[in-house]
Amino acid sequence: MPAVGARRVGVIGAGMVGVCAASWLQRDGHSVFLVEAVEPGHGASFGNAGCFNGSSVTPVAMPGVVWNVPRWLLDPLGPLSLRWTYLPAITPWLWRFIRAGMPDKVRETARALRPLVGPTLEMLKPLVSAAGAEDLVHRLGHLYVYRSAESLEKDRLAWDLRRENGVETDEFDADELRQLEPALSRDYVRGVLVRENGHTSNPLALVERLVGHFVASGGEIVRARAHGFRFQGGRLVAIETDAGDLPADAAIVCAGAYSKPLAAKLGDKVPLETERGYHLMIRDPEAMPHIPTADADGKFVATPMETGLRFAGTVELAGLDAPPDWRRSRILLEQGRKMLPGLAASLPEERISVWMGHRPSLPDSLPVIGPSRATPDVIYAFGHGHVGMTAAPMTGKIVADLVAGRPPSIDIAPFSASRFS
Ligand SMILES: Cc1cc2nc3c(=O)[nH]c(=O)nc-3n(C[C@H](O)[C@H](O)[C@H](O)COP(=O)(O)OP(=O)(O)OC[C@H]3O[C@@H](n4cnc5c(N)ncnc54)[C@H](O)[C@@H]3O)c2cc1C
Repeated sequence: MPAVGARRVGVIGAGMVGVCAASWLQRDGHSVFLVEAVEPGHGASFGNAGCFNGSSVTPVAMPGVVWNVPRWLLDPLGPLSLRWTYLPAITPWLWRFIRAGMPDKVRETARALRPLVGPTLEMLKPLVSAAGAEDLVHRLGHLYVYRSAESLEKDRLAWDLRRENGVETDEFDADELRQLEPALSRDYVRGVLVRENGHTSNPLALVERLVGHFVASGGEIVRARAHGFRFQGGRLVAIETDAGDLPADAAIVCAGAYSKPLAAKLGDKVPLETERGYHLMIRDPEAMPHIPTADADGKFVATPMETGLRFAGTVELAGLDAPPDWRRSRILLEQGRKMLPGLAASLPEERISVWMGHRPSLPDSLPVIGPSRATPDVIYAFGHGHVGMTAAPMTGKIVADLVAGRPPSIDIAPFSASRFS
């Protein structure tokens, strides 16, 4: 028997954000279906670094980042690459990105992000417990490592912003670092540990477990690509898909990097781009850190996963359609060997796997969460960029609050689509 006030809600996109939204909506007694074009969890949520970093409050565009760009682009092992043919298409996004890196702006961004990402593990816990997925989520902290005191100093503003927003940190010198993570290269001489952070040892399995519980609790998965919305008398009546119209009186857009055309149908022009990222995994690695460890200069993370060691990171600006450039994954192996010298100098190909995924990124590093311009019946929850795993549990709860007509527990004004109008 549906609960009083229950609605038929279609959630478009079964990534981490979609499944968290669907789970929270289901808990409110709505009749919920997930519309997924491919397979649940096979988008960006598949191959990320798996970190639930409540400390991730700093935007990608920090003051001064722009001055690093030429050096990064020229360095074949660098963390950023750009397909030059894509430059004209991405220029307006880059312009907004640069403006988002102004000192007063980054303070605002950090203040807006902390309530969204800070409670990540607390908000995830009930979903994970219900789905029997506790074995996949760990709260062991996250370590950031630096090759020099100067390079840590360059990150000082980022650490100040995190601390100003309530993140507690422990700093380590070279000797302490060695005791903490003996597998790390001796080249690292400074480390910062954030104990509140956690990770999943298998992002895909986590999404699948949550989806499994959603289905076992009466939720439906519809394999279809959504392309629009049908209204009657100003109210939503259906989601239009390539498999026909799906009746719904509320819809949530969680289509990750593919959300832009859906928002455009509702009159919202959002500068959503993709920051493509890569991973490289090593099965049965000879060396592995105990907890996710980020090389702060190389901008990649080494995460101990159920199935091996995952190096993940880097940004490639090349849009949604360009084929992967697997050299970007191989770069992660070169970097990873420098981080963990105990890894074999040559690894058989069958122990290596690679992946590319599309981070859904707005230039100001804030997602879009909230009602569409056209109607409160369609709610957005996309564009979480580098922190989509982390922000998904709270985003899902906000979506459920909006559908129920409850005020969300945090300020969502900074996430409005109208900030780009
Ligand atoms: C290398 C890398 C490392 C990362 N590391 C981390 C990390 O450690 N921690 C963290 O918090 N974040 C991390 N991220 C970011 C994180 O992976 C993403 O922000 C997050 O997965 C986005 O989730 P999502 O559900 O919005 O999108 P997705 O997982 O991409 O899901 C969107 C889904 O929508 C479906 N879809 C798209 N269009 C339609 C349509 N029209 N109709 C129906 N279905 C549709 C897609 O098939 C897909 O399944 C990383 C990303 C990368 C690339």
